[in-house]
Amino acid sequence: MKKSSAKKYVYLFGKGMSDGDASMNELLGGKGANLAEMAKLGLPVPAGFTITTECCVDYFANGQKNPAGLDAQVKTALAQVEKVMKMKYGDKDNPLLVSCRSGARKSMPGMMETVLNVGLATSTIPGLVKRTGGNERFVYDAYRRLIMMYSDVVMEKAEGIEPAEGCAIRKQLDAMLDDLKKDKGYKTDTDLSVADLKKLCKDFKVRIKKVLKREFPDDPMLQLQGAIGAVFKSWNGKKAVSYRRIEGIPDDWGTAVNVQSMVFGNMGDTSATGVAFTRDPATGDNKFYGEWLINAQGEDVVAGTRTPFPLNKETKNEQNKHLASMEEMLPKTYKELVGIRNKLEHHYHDMLDIEFTIQDKQLFMLQCRVGKRTGTAALNMAMDMLKEKLIDEKTAVMRVAPSQLDELLHPILDQKAEKAAKVIVKGLPAGPGGAVGQIVFNSEDAMACHKKKIACIMVREETNPEDVDGMRAATGILTARGGMTSHAALVCRGWGKCCIVGAADIQVDEVKKTLKIGTKTFKEGDMLSLNGTRGYVYAGALKTVDSSENEQLKKFMKLVDKFKKLGVRANADTAEDAAKARAFGAEGIGLFRTEHMFYGGNEKPLFALRKMILSSTAEERVKALNELFPYVKKDILATLKAMEGLPVTVRFLDPPLHEFVPHTKEQQLDLAKSIGISHAEFLKRADALKESNPMMGHRGVRLGVTYPEITAMQARAIFEAASEIMLKDRKPCHVEMMIPVTCDPNELKDQKKIIEQVAAEVAKKNKIRKFDYMVGTMIEIPRAAILAGKMAGEAEFFSFGTNDLTQMTFGFSRDDIGGFINEYLEKDIIPADPFQTIDRDGVGWMIRHAVEAGRATRKNLKAGICGEQGGEPKSVEFCHEVGLSYVSCSAYRVPIARLAAAQAAIKSELAAKAARKAKRK
Ligand code: PEP
Ligand code: MG
Repeated sequence: MKKSSAKKYVYLFGKGMSDGDASMNELLGGKGANLAEMAKLGLPVPAGFTITTECCVDYFANGQKNPAGLDAQVKTALAQVEKVMKMKYGDKDNPLLVSCRSGARKSMPGMMETVLNVGLATSTIPGLVKRTGGNERFVYDAYRRLIMMYSDVVMEKAEGIEPAEGCAIRKQLDAMLDDLKKDKGYKTDTDLSVADLKKLCKDFKVRIKKVLKREFPDDPMLQLQGAIGAVFKSWNGKKAVSYRRIEGIPDDWGTAVNVQSMVFGNMGDTSATGVAFTRDPATGDNKFYGEWLINAQGEDVVAGTRTPFPLNKETKNEQNKHLASMEEMLPKTYKELVGIRNKLEHHYHDMLDIEFTIQDKQLFMLQCRVGKRTGTAALNMAMDMLKEKLIDEKTAVMRVAPSQLDELLHPILDQKAEKAAKVIVKGLPAGPGGAVGQIVFNSEDAMACHKKKIACIMVREETNPEDVDGMRAATGILTARGGMTSHAALVCRGWGKCCIVGAADIQVDEVKKTLKIGTKTFKEGDMLSLNGTRGYVYAGALKTVDSSENEQLKKFMKLVDKFKKLGVRANADTAEDAAKARAFGAEGIGLFRTEHMFYGGNEKPLFALRKMILSSTAEERVKALNELFPYVKKDILATLKAMEGLPVTVRFLDPPLHEFVPHTKEQQLDLAKSIGISHAEFLKRADALKESNPMMGHRGVRLGVTYPEITAMQARAIFEAASEIMLKDRKPCHVEMMIPVTCDPNELKDQKKIIEQVAAEVAKKNKIRKFDYMVGTMIEIPRAAILAGKMAGEAEFFSFGTNDLTQMTFGFSRDDIGGFINEYLEKDIIPADPFQTIDRDGVGWMIRHAVEAGRATRKNLKAGICGEQGGEPKSVEFCHEVGLSYVSCSAYRVPIARLAAAQAAIKSELAAKAARKAKRK
């Protein structure tokens, strides 16, 4: 062959001939890289080749045509595979069959397409029958599967044909199969005779011609080309695109195609196929965990159409305990599989998800990849593997995703409530935690509920990957069919979503929208409660509770703190919140919003605040402030006490004034009377408070500038509270006074003067030598960020208020962004909602500049963040990168921020090491 200058698109794998290895994940996709690695390890991998992800990208760039060089490389690789397998593709006597499977860099379970048994045609069928000792039944079963998959994946989906509801070719062929079974009174597919299968194949081809207006290809080479192209195209299939959007997988990665020699799990009772996890993916227990099916092909296990058998004793449960395990039926092969399991775990130092096939007692490995797991399992495995010395401390910290911690901190059903309730049906515990919600029966309804913030349980006969958006939106998922390794289970587990599959005793009518359990029929909107950790379903809404008291988690978090460099504080406005935050490991309070003490509940302080707001003379205002003072002091004191000397950042009043004006006439009259004014005067003053743009109005520091007595009252409340702790409790107390909404250093100068004067007065009165306090500012207006160098001349610390900073940098109203953000995300105008994840390019630029400029003025300037993004893992990573001193977030997100901070520190340490190594080289 003439040497071609084309790119290398094809990489071989198999006995003694692997071109790639596990490190080539990006180019070969996860599946391809690991097949190569397993073959290198000497494991029994049927030979094949991987067409690269780069080729997929080029395929699309080339107008969905094979790029130059691919056809020739496939031909050469196929010849190599034929040599190793001692068979020939398309040969009439000894035909090789292949599978074509997708495999992206990151696993996307079930989201792309697969075609099996490629190469079966009129010319090769007799040869295969002969080679299998005259097993016609097997050959025609394989043929009818090929026809079903190929017509669906290659001839319909890849062609972009969108059939009407219920008219998809696969549905039509499935219905023909079911009709035949019904006619003949068969229960399962295995009852079909050779004659039945032959007839089915013939009828299938006639139907395909009629519906798709094309013959089913009878040429093995054409089949292979069609299958490869279809797998490429499935990268842009609907479900793959949806899944990528949810998981944040870039559209330009592309998928690899793995063309691999077929081995058959459906050659009779000594053949089988299975899926296993090297450890329990739900609990993390160090137990080999899996499912298998005798006389079946791979897709039968994951599709959830047949109830799989347990792999071993450990995998038996209520639903499958009567079914035979592989350990019992094929003990020798099982032992061999256990050996492979141990070898793989020691090689990869992680829990793996494997797929295998047994062809007439001979074991073959078809896939291995790092397995998806629940948060609980991730935590337990990380700590166990650390103990087993399989991994080091840093690796253990990296093994739990911050979002998985979220799941661990999430609610579970209250055990007492569960005991008192009756389990109405049991299923398989596919995704952990508890879920309570209204029943819905399809994805659209689940998404509609989510939009309205209504918790819902999506109930389906079985979920398929088309349901991803609904699965994501639902609080919990319940299905009648499917196993622990079905796609629904894998996807939910990856998301840490509560999910029960295979609850065989439920009857779901998705059209009528009813769910029948025993004699009871549930309708859409009825409440259900799920315990996804045990697989129990309850009628009605059970109470849920926290799952935070977890010893393993405590040990893990201790390890996390060993590596993190960023401090983690909490946003807390009450002593209770402060206590909760400390329990979650907060090292201080980064934002105490003073005005929150006036929300809800207590009418008295609110009344005093309203009086203050509606005062028009300094005299009236001072009177109102004097009334307000004890409440402010009491709340600050309680929080300072709860934090026991840890830093507390008290943000001075930043209330939207008009929001506090009472609306009922009765309240207005009360207030007017208390101030000593008429109702008409009251209404006049209230009207004067109205602003056309309150977000940019008379708020924050502007209040303190116009009414210095408001600042003075707050400073007094803080210093009196601090005095009490220092004198009565004899405890230290550190307060950081934070001035909001500033845009100029002179505002700070003005406010500091008031604060310092009050500090001196209270110190003198209480005979205190010195208060331990700082005065700093929020940076939440772009001008303040731009002038950070000057601001730091006055401010002893900065705290980035990224809610307002994002609002003012983008000009997006923080309260109204819901109206247009989805379109911005869908059209890829911006990569993420900037109110959730820091916008690195704009707001992030401001922060970086402000930190640098601020520290140029004041070397040790403390700089934190207290906007909502402070608890979001990607933003925490950014905060670490720009060298902030701490992040501050709500109590529940404190552990997540701690973990994200530790991971950011480990990542940058590893990156620095790699850079040093590269430089040395
Ligand atoms: C902010 O703007 O980011 C902030 C923390 O303050 P608030 O949300 O109270 O405006
Ligand atoms: Mg703000």
